[in-house]
Amino acid sequence: MSVLLYEVLNKLRQIDEKIKDLSNKRKLPPKGLNEALKKLKEAESKLRTKSTEAEAGSRKTKHVADVLGEETAKLSRAEEKLASVKNSKEYQAALKEVNQLKKAVSSLNDQHQSLNAESDKLMTEMLAIEKELKEAVRSYETLLVQMKDATNQLDSEIKDIQDSRLRVMSDIPDDIRNKYIKACDTKNGVGVSLIMSERCGACNMALPKQFCNQVVKADKVYHCPSCQRLIIYINN
Ligand SMILES: [Zn+2]
Repeated sequence: MSVLLYEVLNKLRQIDEKIKDLSNKRKLPPKGLNEALKKLKEAESKLRTKSTEAEAGSRKTKHVADVLGEETAKLSRAEEKLASVKNSKEYQAALKEVNQLKKAVSSLNDQHQSLNAESDKLMTEMLAIEKELKEAVRSYETLLVQMKDATNQLDSEIKDIQDSRLRVMSDIPDDIRNKYIKACDTKNGVGVSLIMSERCGACNMALPKQFCNQVVKADKVYHCPSCQRLIIYINN
């Protein structure tokens, strides 16, 4: 170990910290993605509810229209009968039937109109929700594309830094490189720590003064007694 080696290991430490930062950034979803997905799901759910309502309404409207048709036909027949009655008694009975049917047809007509109005209202609501859904899908997809672009950008940055890491690693002796790689493997990719104010800069463990002095001497490889990373000292 030497002061020069410390400089190289410090370079590796900075590289590894940078790779760790970029990798963490890569895991973060873009701002607003969850919110956009929530909006999309809500619009989908609202549309499903309205579609169910519209289907039920349309079945009801069809049923009322069918009954209205039947009653209207009955009314025509009753009116024909009224025109051909032979005596007053028959006339009274036929008139009563016509009046009853007229009442029924009128009520069914009202029902049919009100159902049609409801259906128009539902259609307008559904169009608005469809528009909302379309916008939610567009926002979500835009964010996904942004996320993909950002990930690609980070991947390319990470790849460049990893290449430079390999170049720097070739500058250290095999035995120290092996110790460094082992520490990296067990310590989330960062295998070197810097002494800062008599503490391990990585795990923040307070270090004995004598130990720090030995590390400063750089006569051999030292490890942090707590996190086991290779520990170095850089005189700024
Ligand atoms: Zn430590």
